[in-house]
Amino acid sequence: MIYLDGSAGGGQMLRTALALSMATGQAFRMVHIRGQRRKPGLMRQHLTCVKAACEISTGTAIGMEIGSTDLTFHPGEVRSGDYHFAIGTAGSTSLLFQTLLPALLLTDAPSRLRLEGGTHNPLAPPFEFLDRVFLPAMRRMGADATISLVESGFAPVGGGIIESIVNPCARLAPCAFLARGELQDLRIRVPSRYLSAVIGQRMLEAALERFPGSDADVDVREPGPGRGVCCLVEAVFEHTAELTSSFGEQGVSAEKVGARAAKAMHDFIGSGAVVGRQLADQLLLPMALAGVGRFTTMAPDAHVPTNIAVIERFLPVKFGITEAARSTRMITVVGA
Ligand code: ATP
Repeated sequence: MIYLDGSAGGGQMLRTALALSMATGQAFRMVHIRGQRRKPGLMRQHLTCVKAACEISTGTAIGMEIGSTDLTFHPGEVRSGDYHFAIGTAGSTSLLFQTLLPALLLTDAPSRLRLEGGTHNPLAPPFEFLDRVFLPAMRRMGADATISLVESGFAPVGGGIIESIVNPCARLAPCAFLARGELQDLRIRVPSRYLSAVIGQRMLEAALERFPGSDADVDVREPGPGRGVCCLVEAVFEHTAELTSSFGEQGVSAEKVGARAAKAMHDFIGSGAVVGRQLADQLLLPMALAGVGRFTTMAPDAHVPTNIAVIERFLPVKFGITEAARSTRMITVVGA
């Protein structure tokens, strides 16, 4: 049994523990779950991750209720299959997908997933990030999975649906992300539902101010549940990709929202890093499963050390973070 203390972080510490528990067959107990959040403990989206983990790994859990800050999870055997999980709120389907993917990759037959909830949430990867940034990086490590957006679901209503086919891959392969190559394309998209066309247009124009002449469009996603808008800025390089995002919110001007995603992309491009700040914390787990890997990234946020602390408890690996060129960081993982 691995004992973990979640007081230094948020939901990611729990999701990483679930994913690695299923992938390695080791049980864990986590206390002080989401200790750094205003309302600690399991919320609906975390609870769905636990229930889904029980189902795909024929596992059992104690402490599986809303608000619980103490969870014990015993994985069984991970089984491929057709699975359908509904979060029941706008909780992120992307984060649920990332929890289940590593274990399903290690089975011996394809799986199909249908996940319902939010697909475009602040503080989580929007669907397009999974599709254009995260999964392409996973494919470089040998993962074979596709994902499709059946219905967009904007926070706070949700109602989104993603589907995925995950093919088995005996073992993830070591990979180094050390060169971007040339910038080949820069696209700005503003998915919008049931909001005045003017709002999306203003958002788009604010982003275009930073990247004039880019391929840019308001993408009206109607009909569908709820309403919402976000700004997605995608850069495609020869060897990598990044997608920055910002979400419409009450009391914040459309211009400010558009400028935020554009500034985040501007900072990424200017940094010279190969891996963006969010992809950095999401790559740690698959790289550790591969046993070796490295990448350059921007100055990491708190997700990186908290995620590393959990991963190093499950796998015989050691991470290192060193200064690299132009104030970027090199993150390395090697066998312990
Ligand atoms: P909590 O409510 O505890 O904060 P959480 O479960 O939503 O819960 P975090 O622990 O903060 O999660 O993890 C959020 C994850 O979403 C991280 O992997 C982070 O990199 C990713 N993420 C957040 N915003 C974006 C974004 N705009 N694009 C891509 N990924 C993102």
